[in-house]
Amino acid sequence: MLFLQDPAARLSGKGERQRYDLVIIGGGPAGLTAAVYASLQHLHALLLTRDLGGQAVDTSRIKNYMGYDLISGPELLGKFRDQLLTQKYIEHRLDEVLRVDQTPDGFSLQTSNGCQYQAPAVIVATGMHRRRLDVPGEKRLQRRGVSYRLVHELARYQGQPVAVIGGGNSGIGAATELARIGGCVTLVSSGPLTGDANDIEQLAAAENIAVLIDHEVVVIEGEDQVTGVRVQPRGGGVERHLTVAAVFIEVGFLPNIDCVAHLVRRNRTGEIEIGQDCGTSVPGLFAAGDVTDGLGQRIIIAAGEGARAALAAGAYVRARQNKTTTEGHPA
Ligand SMILES: Cc1cc2nc3c(=O)[nH]c(=O)nc-3n(C[C@H](O)[C@H](O)[C@H](O)COP(=O)(O)OP(=O)(O)OC[C@H]3O[C@@H](n4cnc5c(N)ncnc54)[C@H](O)[C@@H]3O)c2cc1C
Repeated sequence: MLFLQDPAARLSGKGERQRYDLVIIGGGPAGLTAAVYASLQHLHALLLTRDLGGQAVDTSRIKNYMGYDLISGPELLGKFRDQLLTQKYIEHRLDEVLRVDQTPDGFSLQTSNGCQYQAPAVIVATGMHRRRLDVPGEKRLQRRGVSYRLVHELARYQGQPVAVIGGGNSGIGAATELARIGGCVTLVSSGPLTGDANDIEQLAAAENIAVLIDHEVVVIEGEDQVTGVRVQPRGGGVERHLTVAAVFIEVGFLPNIDCVAHLVRRNRTGEIEIGQDCGTSVPGLFAAGDVTDGLGQRIIIAAGEGARAALAAGAYVRARQNKTTTEGHPA
């Protein structure tokens, strides 16, 4: 399926190609930026993504993207998308890449829509997905009080007691947002708070946030809707019951690496190892954004890496083309 509009007609008037100079996987800040940079180099590139925007569409307040004092995720990613749609050389499909394999000519990609594409170079910009707590009640009560996507649920729990699980940037941000709309918030963290110093200060200043450090969730309770959560000190001890209408789970992320896990070198946490040019252990395979072992999971860093990966992929593709022309066969 095409998303939004089809630039293919503008390109050549031909039907869908199966072979591209470059395939980019992922439509978050890294993938969208890579796509624009690929198009600027006149690479015939294809962007394949499960959804448009990535994780950042979940946030209502972005305060650290240069050029904007404050902007919402949907607004910022809308601008990324609009910029992509003005590019001439890029095609894009809403589709999930199931597997990437090496071939003598580069790579072949299989998608969940049953399509197969080939390209000498691929950029993996698949980002991350949310970790689960794996406690009783979590799965059963999902969308009935258990939530991983704060922005969509915010208005529903206005003024009600809620729990936020997780003491990192996302958990602290969620607790502060919920407190701002008048809820009585308990933030439960299994260790010390690890968010940005400014955000921790804001949290401490809020009168309607209680913080439980070194506590873990034992069970999420409720029949058809969350009614409470039981927590206990990490490593055991006396359980406490919190009466809450919702539980917001913000306990970190895991890299989306299923389609390339068999192919590429990764670190201990599963992130794809990249070099200075965003190249991976496999020549022609580049990676950018949160899926990599690069320091800092931020929109601006993902976008920067997307740009760098596209420049490096462009150089790689042109070098291969030159070699083919000189030697008369594929490199
Ligand atoms: C609630 C929240 C608030 C945040 N707030 C901020 C903030 O204020 N400032 C900031 O700088 N950062 C913030 N971040 C972090 C920021 O969103 C990420 O660093 C950034 O989105 C990473 O971009 P990415 O392109 O690497 O990955 P993602 O945004 O995760 O995008 C990955 C894309 O790849 C797609 N995909 C995955 N697997 C496949 C597949 N197999 N086939 C096809 N497509 C696939 C996904 O659907 C998605 O579109 C926040 C994150 C969250 C969750």
